[in-house]
Amino acid sequence: SGFDDLGLDPKVLRAVKDAGYENPTPIQAEAIPAALQGRDVLGIAQTGTGKTASFTLPMITLLAKGRARARMPRSLVLCPTRELAAQVAENFDIYAKHVKLTKALLIGGVSFKEQEALIDRGVDVLIATPGRLLDHFERGKLLLTGVQIMVVDEADRMLDMGFIPDIERIFKLTPFTRQTLFFSATMAPEIERITNMFLQAPVKVEV
Ligand code: AMP
Repeated sequence: SGFDDLGLDPKVLRAVKDAGYENPTPIQAEAIPAALQGRDVLGIAQTGTGKTASFTLPMITLLAKGRARARMPRSLVLCPTRELAAQVAENFDIYAKHVKLTKALLIGGVSFKEQEALIDRGVDVLIATPGRLLDHFERGKLLLTGVQIMVVDEADRMLDMGFIPDIERIFKLTPFTRQTLFFSATMAPEIERITNMFLQAPVKVEV
């Protein structure tokens, strides 16, 4: 299929085919190979363009290739709302169904206990809203120094909700050497400022 030549892990490709996808959307065709080469990606895209798969598929491929270290999360996806984080988690489960990766969904409105138990056990991927992620950090239960891939989804909504300082703080808790995949529907000056600060020579994909 049109997904075959993007460089995805065969198990990820199988999941994509199970989902019935035949061809990558434009943002997927551009963002997936760039992400798999280790590049930072700045995606300017609305929801409905297939942007979730454009970061989830390469993230799973890269994690499946690597190796877990000391039970620390290797990947972090930040979403503006609980609903969006839950959707990303659902997508992750679909695309990662043939690989062995673990995840925790860290959102508000749920007790800390269950989420802490997952973190303690060790997960590969955190999918979180900024406030709840920082709550866990402040409780001393979470280290982000093992994060190799960080995704920021719907940054424009993060800005509307006043989360940019949180995002900045979270960026600073992750290693400078991380890979960053950053998505926003628009490029407001404040968004541009943080991408200039935290992305390194990103491949810009605009759809
Ligand atoms: P998103 O923009 O990430 O919210 O995705 C919008 C919808 O498109 C979701 O329901 C996906 O399951 C679906 N989708 C994503 N990529 C593809 C694709 N390559 N082919 C068909 N459907 C897709």
